[in-house]
Amino acid sequence: MIDVQNVSKVYEMPGEAVRVLDGVNLQVKAGETAAVVGPSGSGKTTLLNLLGALDRPSEGKVLVGGRDLASFGEAEAALFRNKSLGFVFQHHHLLPQCTLLENVVLPRLGGGWEEPEEETAARAESLLERVGLQDRLTHFPYQLSGGERLRTALARALVNEPGLVLADEPTGSLDQETTGVVADLLAQLNSQMGVTLVVVTHNVDLARRMQDYYELRGGKLEKQ
Ligand code: ADP
Ligand code: MG
Repeated sequence: MIDVQNVSKVYEMPGEAVRVLDGVNLQVKAGETAAVVGPSGSGKTTLLNLLGALDRPSEGKVLVGGRDLASFGEAEAALFRNKSLGFVFQHHHLLPQCTLLENVVLPRLGGGWEEPEEETAARAESLLERVGLQDRLTHFPYQLSGGERLRTALARALVNEPGLVLADEPTGSLDQETTGVVADLLAQLNSQMGVTLVVVTHNVDLARRMQDYYELRGGKLEKQ
């Protein structure tokens, strides 16, 4: 599913160049789960952005589902992100003026699915039920706890039935107990829905719950 080949990322800034990733290799098979841990600033988000076609490597190749992301134009990249990928962002990025149901429905409205409205709503409802928020459909993000917001973001990431979910520090601001609940949920979504999952985190407990566990340090990725 994922094949990162000798990827480097250099940020060019006036007077200096910062090499954030330095010859990174990563393979994740379809249906598997992988975690990348590393301290703040080690390049975790950079790596995830490359996997999600949100950015391009300076050197090397990123293949997802056998396709070289560098070959994508803007429109193709947007389609790939909408149809093949679920992204859970570090700060969740839920729309504050939309209910949970509306937030989950939104990605389904792009991409030309041609699905009756009731079907889209039912799909979103069933995902919110799966993450335990069936009683909160008409609530707004500000009415939720951090853990509940994350669950909503997960449901939203899954609404287009992507083969791959990328999660950036999903438990960043959660306490240990909630982190455990989220880890259970991620494992469940992987085993029941067969989604491939890549989680970047500085939380070692969460990382250990994934099948493979890598550490990013000094631009290098090493399997633990
Ligand atoms: P992490 O997610 O592990 O905290 P990031 O991938 O966000 O790390 O950042 C890694 C390093 O790259 C940091 O030193 C950060 O300042 C730098 N960086 C990230 N994005 C940019 C950018 N667009 N321009 C310049 N430097 C950047
Ligand atoms: Mg980050």
